[in-house]
Amino acid sequence: MFHLTYHQIRPSESARYLYSVTPEQFAAHLEVLAPAAARLPPDAAISFDDGDASIFDYALPRLEACRAKATLFITAAWIGARAGFLSWSQLSALADLGHSVQSHGWSHVFLPACDRKQLHEELRRSKQVIEDRIGREVSEISMPAGRWNGSVVAACAEAGYARVFTSEAGAQPRVLAGVEVLGRYMARRHDTAADIAARLAAKPAALGRQRLRRLAARSLQAVLGDERYHRLWLRWSGAPPETEAELGYTPDGSPPPS
Ligand SMILES: [Zn+2]
Repeated sequence: MFHLTYHQIRPSESARYLYSVTPEQFAAHLEVLAPAAARLPPDAAISFDDGDASIFDYALPRLEACRAKATLFITAAWIGARAGFLSWSQLSALADLGHSVQSHGWSHVFLPACDRKQLHEELRRSKQVIEDRIGREVSEISMPAGRWNGSVVAACAEAGYARVFTSEAGAQPRVLAGVEVLGRYMARRHDTAADIAARLAAKPAALGRQRLRRLAARSLQAVLGDERYHRLWLRWSGAPPETEAELGYTPDGSPPPS
């Protein structure tokens, strides 16, 4: 399974963020996965993390053109509450079109940094609120900022999730605590159609580079500690400054107010 994940689909003038892809690039990527607007092959999947409003304006028309269905992993507390993110009515419309609305946690805190009470809030509250609003079961969750560990997966199992999606491209699917743990590739600003084609074909060079990058990132993370590493990453990736506080740790490690 090749699982491709996006964050923002925005025209180039507003696309500074590492994970912001232009509508033209998105269309070119889709053309690789579903040539000539054929359906997505069964071994490919597309998802969106966070719930950025650009999904509705720029990704939806292109998905519909090739009848591709995506999964939207949403940060539930941001929906209808934060400018630039989808509304509940847009998400209901997407669900009615056959797209799946699933959880990306409640407030985007890093789950391994949560105590039991916070973890409960992040996992159960997001699932409950999405199910109430959309009227469909939530059984999947993607890990905010790709941070996870065995305890988080066990808590996901307790909260009733069947599948956990990470940000580790090329990772072998596995089952932990009865939950499927599946990797995904995060589409980046500079990814061309050829890059996506190479990843779809799982070319050894692309996978090797990926593993090396992951190893280097883990070493740096170990040296700096996760919080300092994340702040450095935010600057390097061009993440919009107004979202920094919400994208990771708050000063006292608690979830941002909902
Ligand atoms: Zn996220």
